[in-house]
Amino acid sequence: MYTKAYIGLGSNVGDKKANLAQARFLIEGLKGVRISKQSSLYETAPWGKTDQDDFINQVIEIETELRPLELLHQLQAIEIKLGRRREVHWGPRNIDLDVLLYGRETIDLEELKVPHPYLIQRLFVLIPLAEIDSELVFPDGSKIGEVLLRLTKSADTGDLRKL
Ligand code: AMP
Repeated sequence: MYTKAYIGLGSNVGDKKANLAQARFLIEGLKGVRISKQSSLYETAPWGKTDQDDFINQVIEIETELRPLELLHQLQAIEIKLGRRREVHWGPRNIDLDVLLYGRETIDLEELKVPHPYLIQRLFVLIPLAEIDSELVFPDGSKIGEVLLRLTKSADTGDLRKL
């Protein structure tokens, strides 16, 4: 059985576009995973820790036979393959892959929290997600349009530029 899931990609070190392209290539190559949609690329000011280079972010939709933890582990293996170094929490990274949503499932494990805990606080995730599916409904029943509207009304959502 295939489940629709959404992956967030981010990079702020080196050739950022190439890092995302390589990550997509490796994701597409995973057994039991097919990329069904991809958002535009967005350039975003760093979030959390602001004294670092801008990020490029993207969201992709996949259809997958992998269970959520298998998917997470495969994405982590791709991060390692692409030489991810992460010395500082929220610091610079050449590639960051997050499981944003997995079907309508809610997962609350130490290792994997879905929907991704920062999903509803980050415009650079919500905007590309809405670009892919403007009718998306979260596991708690909230609609992406409403969540986006709430966030854009609150302060400090950061800069975001579609490339
Ligand atoms: P980060 O540095 O933001 O990539 O965080 C990686 C850590 O977050 C790993 O230890 C993961 O096990 C954990 N984690 C929890 N939920 C998720 C998720 N939805 N997607 C990716 N990593 C997650």
